[in-house]
Amino acid sequence: IKPKPTIFMIFGGTGDLAERKLIPALYNLFLEKYMPKEFAIIGLGRTEYNDDSFKKLLLGGVNKFSRSGKADKDKWADFSKHITYLKSDVNNEADYKKMSDVIEKCEKDWSEPPIIIHYLAVAPKFFPIIAGNLAKVKLADDTDRTRIVIEKPFGHDLQSAKELNALLKGIFAETQIYRIDHYLGKETVQNMLAFRFANALFEPIWNRNFIEHVQISVTEDIGVEDRGGYYDGSGALRDMVQNHILQVLCLVAMEPPVNFDAEEIRNRKVDVLRAMRQFGPDEVRFNTVRGQYSEGWVKGEKVEGYREEKGVDPESNTETFAALKFFIDNWRWQNVPFYVRTGKRMHQKASIISIQFKDVPHLIFPNQSSESWQQNRLIISIQPEMSIRLQVQAKRPGLDMTLNPVDMVFNYDGTYETDTPEAYETLLLDAMKGDQTLFMRGDQVETAWDLIMPVLENWESKKSISFPNYSADSWGPETAEALIAKDGFHWFTMP
Ligand code: NAD
Repeated sequence: IKPKPTIFMIFGGTGDLAERKLIPALYNLFLEKYMPKEFAIIGLGRTEYNDDSFKKLLLGGVNKFSRSGKADKDKWADFSKHITYLKSDVNNEADYKKMSDVIEKCEKDWSEPPIIIHYLAVAPKFFPIIAGNLAKVKLADDTDRTRIVIEKPFGHDLQSAKELNALLKGIFAETQIYRIDHYLGKETVQNMLAFRFANALFEPIWNRNFIEHVQISVTEDIGVEDRGGYYDGSGALRDMVQNHILQVLCLVAMEPPVNFDAEEIRNRKVDVLRAMRQFGPDEVRFNTVRGQYSEGWVKGEKVEGYREEKGVDPESNTETFAALKFFIDNWRWQNVPFYVRTGKRMHQKASIISIQFKDVPHLIFPNQSSESWQQNRLIISIQPEMSIRLQVQAKRPGLDMTLNPVDMVFNYDGTYETDTPEAYETLLLDAMKGDQTLFMRGDQVETAWDLIMPVLENWESKKSISFPNYSADSWGPETAEALIAKDGFHWFTMP
């Protein structure tokens, strides 16, 4: 079903996110005929542009970042007819009047009243200002047709997230608020729902009786690049764990929903967060590890340590690595550890969920070396490889009974010919259609903040004396290995 006529008001239309993600996503939706016949993209920003120079800027972004490669001349011409630029300052109330004039014109000319999506691709300090000004000029009132998309980060801690939620909810209904976590738009992450709830095979074993532990690992090989100034006030817990990793964890751990309604799915996800065991001082001490990268060598090139990066305090206490052991206190997951880790400047870029099943109850095969023995494991690789692997033991061909682990693999690239859409394509289309399933609800965000606050507060109040404690191109601090090794496990890495 095609969405209704839509107006995208992109605040921060000249910014990096618009250029790199939003416009390429809308262009690909246009190429694949998902865009409605009537749509308008209104770029908003302070910089001086006219429509032509703005379109030129965006074309550069599409050529560079779109999954469909360089834009076709005619198709871009068709698409870009829908784009205009409106120079405006988010602080200036009069500029919002200009926005409503543009909207009114579309309403007059089009066949039916459009959906209006205010996309806030600007720094978080502007979120309250924009929301407030939209309310003043009555661009927020229509609960059916008006939506607001909020980029990450949603709050800096529990208190600020609560304040932002309260402010937004004073202006918009929850059904109008789309809090983006782009991880939820990724194919492999969405496939978690299909995999768990469309196959009879896994449901009976998806619990503490069969699963020994779960790992979620999101490692990046890059450092902070030019985001040092921002990152130093944030850190790995805020940037990755509070949002992306906990959202993925919810999909792994949630109870089966009774239907595919957005509210039902979001209820089941928030149930998981509410059941997660709170961290007391002992848990922070024994179940968490933080790290910060030092200089090192990556592919033969010397790279700087975190404290030497541009915009970073030379004595920074900010973590670029975090590993935590969580428990979910409900019947399904009692005593099953969920280990999560994330870090920058790690040896490999990979986002992986690993579900390790309990060992066989009795071993009948003689002479198995411990190296070749591996418990069953389900590996869901989110990126860069998009695959699901089931690791099982099999007999190695030969005259004696020797076992070795083999993978049953479902790989997206080999299975489907079509290119997988980018996360932002999925999410923008959902926002147009009014489907909130893959967006975070207000209570979900607050519960996730609530969970990590004791760790954040502990880490921020105690300066780490060991920083920097891992070198670039490594697997993080040694203590992260110890966190999981003391329970008899190892972090899984892709071969
Ligand atoms: P950016 O600095 O590249 O762009 C900021 C935009 O805001 C520019 O278009 C600028 O003109 C506009 N702006 C600044 N002050 C303004 C004012 N007073 N009035 C009107 N416009 C003003 O930032 P970005 O990287 O595009 O990030 C935007 C948001 O998206 C941030 O919240 C960021 O955390 C989030 N985000 C970005 C990325 C990314 O890949 N860039 C990824 C995830 C989330």
